[in-house]
Amino acid sequence: MNIQVRPTDQAPEGATHPDARPVLSFKAKRRGKAPTHLADFDLAGRKAALKEAGLPAFRADQLSRHFFTHLTTNPADMSDLPAGQRSQICELLLPRLIQEAAAIRADDGRTVKHLWELFDGARVESVLMRYPSRTTLCVSSQAGCGMACPFCATGQMGLTRNLSTGEIIDQVRRASQAARDGDLAGGPTRLTNVVFMGMGEPLANYKTVVGALHRLIDPAPEGFGLSARNITVSTVGLVPAIKKLSKEGLPVTLAVSLHAPDDDLRDDLIPINSRWKVGELLDAAHQYFEVTGRRVSIEYALIKNMNDHAWRAQLLADELNSRGSGWAHVNPIPLNPTPGSIWTASTKAAQQKFVDTLRRNGVATTIRDTRGSDIDGACGQLATAVEKKMKEQQ
Ligand code: SF4
Repeated sequence: MNIQVRPTDQAPEGATHPDARPVLSFKAKRRGKAPTHLADFDLAGRKAALKEAGLPAFRADQLSRHFFTHLTTNPADMSDLPAGQRSQICELLLPRLIQEAAAIRADDGRTVKHLWELFDGARVESVLMRYPSRTTLCVSSQAGCGMACPFCATGQMGLTRNLSTGEIIDQVRRASQAARDGDLAGGPTRLTNVVFMGMGEPLANYKTVVGALHRLIDPAPEGFGLSARNITVSTVGLVPAIKKLSKEGLPVTLAVSLHAPDDDLRDDLIPINSRWKVGELLDAAHQYFEVTGRRVSIEYALIKNMNDHAWRAQLLADELNSRGSGWAHVNPIPLNPTPGSIWTASTKAAQQKFVDTLRRNGVATTIRDTRGSDIDGACGQLATAVEKKMKEQQ
């Protein structure tokens, strides 16, 4: 039986009106810019900023080490800086960018989801997750998102504004600090992986995200010195930006949120597909693999009777294999069950058939762990829940 549920059968998640439909937008509602921060610059830029303020340029090295290695922004911790200059230097390059608005724990304390308030009151989320062999942070790159995916709460908020590099990197510093200080169950550990899968479409905030990738990868004191292999940038399919990223010399993993192998369904499921079709997107993803040597992840949320048909698994395998073998890895993600909604989890049997079809066709496939599913798992849901609560209290 081939039941077909369409994304348009119901108003989008979080919609305020039953007839509401997603609207794609690249324009931010707010134009405000976060205060300038050390992490917005490379080392040369930090030196120039200090010099311009009449301070010694060589202090940039020390300050960078405090931020990226010791993970502190507190002038009291910086005894190698002259007492008389500490506050001035910190005020200039280490303004407070993010403030904790809420924190929720799940998975027996191995997952912590933070809601951060930014300087202008905008809110974003990050999720820190401990696994047996790694500790991963999922960061936000925009406040809200303009991609309007109908299954995503963030998409229904629209794009408030792009984050600055400093605002992205400070999410990472705070998470590294939390991991180091034993905030996750299992004791102190080191943050090893960063995924750009929180709020926002990272490639729609391209320059800032590339700056953040440099700060993540560059060795201390310039950055955190994380391995590029452990960093993943996820996209719904901004084809020109994928091509550009492949040439940055930053061999990070690209994750494509595909969710449908046919344009007919994907046009409704991922509105940006109206601009760049599945074929163009997979061509760009394959080119990314060829240029960087990094295998591309294909993310595929399995939604009951919408995109989980065996014929779609076959079509996906054919589309991938027609471009070569071994270049992509498919991660089917079972959706959280949402009773009464069209966005609900595939049956176990459908999941198995989908995975078997891909594997039978030689496509590497791993069902992904859905961490934090008991704490408003998908991006944007925590912010929506907190906002709702605040409105109720007003
Ligand atoms: S799924 Fe990602 S790209 Fe789509 S609206 Fe949500 S945050 Fe934006």
